[in-house]
Amino acid sequence: MRIGYRCEDCGAVRILGTTRTELVWLRNRKHVVQEVARHSSGGLDLWMSDGLEFLDEHSDHSVLVEAM
Ligand SMILES: [Zn+2]
Repeated sequence: MRIGYRCEDCGAVRILGTTRTELVWLRNRKHVVQEVARHSSGGLDLWMSDGLEFLDEHSDHSVLVEAM
């Protein structure tokens, strides 16, 4: 089973290689994670940067965590 974000408003979907728990965590702490990413040289895991990008693109929308 694959997990990802789905935007309720425009129907966009992004499958991300992690767990539902992690995606809920990222969605709830988006601003904190962005702040940490700005100050860390190591960079983020791929699912995190992909996930943040999706959340940014749909920041005024309602984003769900869903099994695809
Ligand atoms: Zn959207």
